[in-house]
Amino acid sequence: MSIKTFQDLIKEVHEKGICQECGGCTSFCSAAFEKVIGFKKPNSPPEYVNKDACLECGICYYLCPQTHILDDELNKTYKFTDFKSMPLGHFEDIFSCQSTDSDFLKYGTDGGVVNSIINYMIEKKLIDGAIVAKVQGPFSREAMFAGDKMDLIKGSGIKLEISTQLDEIQNFCTYTRSIPQLNHYKFKKLAIVGTPCQIYTIRCMQNLGVTPSEYIEICLGLFCYHNFLFDKSQIKRFEKDFDVKFENITKINIKEDLILKIDPEGRVVHIPFDKIVDYVRPACFSCADFTNIYSDISFGGLGSPDKYTTVIPRTEKGKKLFHKVLGEKIIKNLVLKAPEKENMKELITKFSHSKMEREVSFMKNL
Ligand SMILES: Cc1cc2nc3c(=O)[nH]c(=O)nc-3n(C[C@H](O)[C@H](O)[C@H](O)COP(=O)(O)OP(=O)(O)OC[C@H]3O[C@@H](n4cnc5c(N)ncnc54)[C@H](O)[C@@H]3O)c2cc1C
Ligand code: SF4
Ligand code: SF4
Ligand code: SF4
Repeated sequence: MSIKTFQDLIKEVHEKGICQECGGCTSFCSAAFEKVIGFKKPNSPPEYVNKDACLECGICYYLCPQTHILDDELNKTYKFTDFKSMPLGHFEDIFSCQSTDSDFLKYGTDGGVVNSIINYMIEKKLIDGAIVAKVQGPFSREAMFAGDKMDLIKGSGIKLEISTQLDEIQNFCTYTRSIPQLNHYKFKKLAIVGTPCQIYTIRCMQNLGVTPSEYIEICLGLFCYHNFLFDKSQIKRFEKDFDVKFENITKINIKEDLILKIDPEGRVVHIPFDKIVDYVRPACFSCADFTNIYSDISFGGLGSPDKYTTVIPRTEKGKKLFHKVLGEKIIKNLVLKAPEKENMKELITKFSHSKMEREVSFMKNL
């Protein structure tokens, strides 16, 4: 069997419109020094830059989150055999937690748990820092390295003056390209925060031994139902349809629906997922994992009360870290009765199934 290469990615991924533009292939191409492939246009898949220098090694094809070549191996490693019948992946228990640090709680997306865990790992010198994402504007974040508490707080949801930027923006994508950041911190012990597609790419890299994935100590995975892509006219339509001004959005939470907090009125707007389908990044329709099944620990808002984060420890490493931060009171756990926990699991399972069904129907119609 011949090795599949970037040419096959073009055919099987780009031409079908399902490239997630994660930058995995461009960043970890075996012949990267020759700049074989790269992004030439914003919000478009990568292209050949110097096709003649391609080594035809297949690495880009294997680590692309849309080829699913390594699913069986990863499922074995992460302890489940059949993703379709087990939408939540491997886990033993599920928790609702909150940071005990008032800053992380104040600036956190939900309970400030992710940043608290990263900060603990930095302070205990378990990692040198983490690849996270700083807020650029409503819906938009840019990948960054956080080496201390100040960096983590800076990256949180602080309001920015973005009205002038909005005038210049042609296309506005909420997806954060975190994977290419790894190339800058090769010799640091890192945590990485990422969406399911990003964590999947990292697990593929670790499975294939692609450097620098060996420096990633822990993968902190966020739940993700979809990301958004707006062009200028869509921003205007969104503002009109939902009676919000982009520049006034101060906070976004994603739970059973999209929750926008609006300044200065202090209004809270709930937008059901089925009303925002037109703004979803097309590649997200081809993605089936909601709860980040290959992460060490997964985090989301769904299932928890306001200012709490839903936490699913998965791997041995993830479980050990979670119980350590709980034991050291870095985070606290909301004690839930058995029926409450069951309801939480049912709700998350419902969203997982719904995302899987969306993927099946989208792929059928390609
Ligand atoms: C694009 C996206 C979609 C999501 N969709 C859902 C959903 O459908 N349902 C749901 O329940 N939860 C969803 N979440 C997760 C949820 O919004 C919270 O991130 C999660 O509950 C953790 O909250 P926290 O307060 O504990 O995290 P915090 O303590 O606030 O820490 C969050 C950390 O994640 C980093 N970060 C944020 N976005 C990114 C990114 N894109 N890439 C890398 N790092 C990032 C921040 O810089 C910060 O360090 C989504 C998150 C994102 C980013
Ligand atoms: S050299 Fe390997 S990784 Fe790079 S484009 Fe060619 S096949 Fe892909
Ligand atoms: S690795 Fe990422 S950027 Fe490259 S083809 Fe696959 S989805 Fe697109
Ligand atoms: S929906 Fe899937 S493809 Fe889209 S950002 Fe989330 S994990 Fe990635």
